[in-house]
Amino acid sequence: MEAVHYNRVSPELIEQFKKIVPGKVHTAEDINEDYSHDEMPIYGKGYPDVLIEATTTEDIAAIVKLCYENNIVVIPRGAGTGLVGAAVAIHGGVMIDMTKMNKILEYDLENFVVRVEPGVLLNDLAEDALKQGLLYPPDPGEKFATLGGNVATNAGGMRAVKYGTTRDYVRAMTVVLPTGEIIKLGATVSKTSTGYSLINLMIGSEGTLGIITELTLKLIPAPKETISLIIPFENLEDCISTVPKIFLHKLAPQAVEFMEKEIVLASERYIGRAVYPKEVEGVDIGAYLLLTFDGESMERLEEITEQAAEIALEAGAVDVLVADTPTKKKDAWAARSSFLEAIEAETELLDECDVVVPVNKIAEYLKYVYKVRENYDFTVKSFGHAGDGNLHIYTCSNDMELEEFNKQVKGFFDDIYQKAAEFGGLLSGEHGIGYGKRDYLASFSGDVVMRLMKGVKETFDPKMILNPGKVCYKVD
Ligand SMILES: Cc1cc2nc3c(=O)[nH]c(=O)nc-3n(C[C@H](O)[C@H](O)[C@H](O)COP(=O)(O)OP(=O)(O)OC[C@H]3O[C@@H](n4cnc5c(N)ncnc54)[C@H](O)[C@@H]3O)c2cc1C
Repeated sequence: MEAVHYNRVSPELIEQFKKIVPGKVHTAEDINEDYSHDEMPIYGKGYPDVLIEATTTEDIAAIVKLCYENNIVVIPRGAGTGLVGAAVAIHGGVMIDMTKMNKILEYDLENFVVRVEPGVLLNDLAEDALKQGLLYPPDPGEKFATLGGNVATNAGGMRAVKYGTTRDYVRAMTVVLPTGEIIKLGATVSKTSTGYSLINLMIGSEGTLGIITELTLKLIPAPKETISLIIPFENLEDCISTVPKIFLHKLAPQAVEFMEKEIVLASERYIGRAVYPKEVEGVDIGAYLLLTFDGESMERLEEITEQAAEIALEAGAVDVLVADTPTKKKDAWAARSSFLEAIEAETELLDECDVVVPVNKIAEYLKYVYKVRENYDFTVKSFGHAGDGNLHIYTCSNDMELEEFNKQVKGFFDDIYQKAAEFGGLLSGEHGIGYGKRDYLASFSGDVVMRLMKGVKETFDPKMILNPGKVCYKVD
């Protein structure tokens, strides 16, 4: 625990902020409850003293410089859809709401990039790019997150198995450092060997090293066709064991998601319609794979899906359903896209693990998780990106006391995180560390790596004012 002293925001300082961004500064009773938490409120709530709507890089730099000189905490905030408490003001201070910097600035089609402000929503860029026949490949489940938030968490999502994660699509960025200095990192080029890659340090730094105020993102030509398969299995083990076989046959799916029946049922209750089969020829279905393939022609995709179907049936699938029309594809994915909301709607106490393990270890890992779960009073629901080993394991209870729930969940997580490490996995595949996972990071990283991470933080943020208490640094 590091001892750092922060000042409260004085009325004089608020007046100075108002001169920089008139009409954009909000205090106390003016700040909506939404800003006091993210989408995983179990990690705690906290209000900032002041909320400022971001306008320009220069204005943000002027505000941050004032905060630096006065030892005031600053928290950059995107859409608040994070799942690790990273965008929550646990030490008060000035929250900078980036959602108002939301312009798509310029497409550069000769270089296949787009320049955007960080508050542009993923959904808005994805739709806009598609109109021009272009794809922005990162596809995390929450489409109404900001691109700045996606970059700050290195968001992953469904298409990571084929196209990689957000990191792979960031060419350049403008950053306001915790000192108020403005830097530009990267360039509109596709290769670089130009010193330490600070741009890669910024990606996934969860608002602890700098505030991203502009992004240049890579695009690719949009594939002409896609086709999805819903593949039901009797049990989760058969379902998961099929995934490495698909890769062994060198099929290159765009997405490979697994889901257990319980979660599909919850999701269908939530969206109000049934899409997935629950029983096939007398076999009770226990789990599903949802696969998508993309390509240039439907004929080629049909060949690939036939091959995938054969592999799956041989591996124990009970059936293979093809979603080849826009409505069928939309329905198949609607249920998958609503999993978290569906769990939230039915659950009072919820915590989450977002480990990533090697793909060939998923089945064994999940078997272990469900075995360990038997020692506890909460239930577990799981789904995830089977193609890249990223598992979302939710602990859920409607009848436990909060204190008891937290105590039991800690015991459970200690155990399953240790197993993930033994299997060669990592603590977070895509949601980040933030506040909620901070205390587990050291056990995955070791003392030397933690020392280096803290050294990076101290170099970028000598007064520890930017989003303190998150990722690798505890402050009291
Ligand atoms: C239903 C649901 C589904 C989800 N599915 C996925 C998924 O499939 N894959 C995935 O990876 N995530 C997923 N998420 C998590 C979440 O959407 C991502 O973490 C997202 O990237 C957060 O973006 P945001 O704009 O909401 O950022 P916030 O939650 O506001 O902030 C997240 C972090 O980014 C920092 N930050 C935000 N903007 C900036 C900026 N401009 N400069 C510097 N730092 C900044 C904040 O300080 C904070 O540390 C899901 C969440 C929900 C609710």
